[in-house]
Amino acid sequence: TLDYTGQVALVTGAAKGVGFATAAAFATQGAVVVLADRDANALSDSVDRLRADGRRVLGVTCDVADEVSVASLVRSTVDEFGRLDAAFNNAGIQVPRIDAADEPAESFDRVASVNLRGVWACMKHELGQMRAQGSGAIVNCSSLGGLVGNPGLASYHATKHGVIGLTSSAALDYAARGVRINAVCPGTIDTPMVADMLATGALEKNAMTAAIPMGRLGRPDEIAAAVLWLCSPAASYITGVALPVDGGYVA
Ligand code: NAD
Repeated sequence: TLDYTGQVALVTGAAKGVGFATAAAFATQGAVVVLADRDANALSDSVDRLRADGRRVLGVTCDVADEVSVASLVRSTVDEFGRLDAAFNNAGIQVPRIDAADEPAESFDRVASVNLRGVWACMKHELGQMRAQGSGAIVNCSSLGGLVGNPGLASYHATKHGVIGLTSSAALDYAARGVRINAVCPGTIDTPMVADMLATGALEKNAMTAAIPMGRLGRPDEIAAAVLWLCSPAASYITGVALPVDGGYVA
């Protein structure tokens, strides 16, 4: 049931980390994959890597914080491949840890424009196409931060809680119309985002792994596996959920 042959998948934030692993997994399972990212150089390297493995992929430079850019991404996907079957709205950023009394409004606006408004815009334009098709599956990227709090990260966590609200409400809009919408809530995953947080001291590796029941960070391919499953017919009766993929953290 994880065979995506003949299907079209779209992944945002696909140049690196979780997004790249998920784009690679869709492509390995036979999908045609559109990789979208705002970092044009990293995107072109990632597209080249997949093409070298014989995968059918297209790179589109897109800033999810800009709705015009998102509309054009979905239009290019449909112009090129005729449909859209699966979408993973993964692009997201982290902001530096700061006391909730000290965060500048610009910091809140920056993280909200990508993590929340970006997911909203992607979902809106993907749904326009999926509504016309009467089929499709969307996974939005939340976080453990969508389920619990964390000191110094109020605005990031607010955006990830918001992604769950977008997901459950839109899932109800489309439950009877052939389109399923779910969220994944990754725990701490070994990606460039986490490497940056370790480098700046925002995270400390030993303390972090000690808090994870499985005693290790997650791998990007472990999030990809959950996304492919949620988008597949194997999950045909699942919509509106926020699935933790976290080594047991919220257990
Ligand atoms: P990453 O920083 O390694 O990669 C993110 C990618 O998104 C980059 O290629 C970046 O260029 C792209 N991107 C950022 N802003 C964008 C924008 N405005 N438009 C288009 N592309 C943009 O991050 P990651 O660790 O792979 O995280 C991916 C997602 O998973 C994010 O939503 C993040 O919040 C979430 N998440 C990550 C972790 C973790 O531990 N790594 C945990 C929970 C949730």
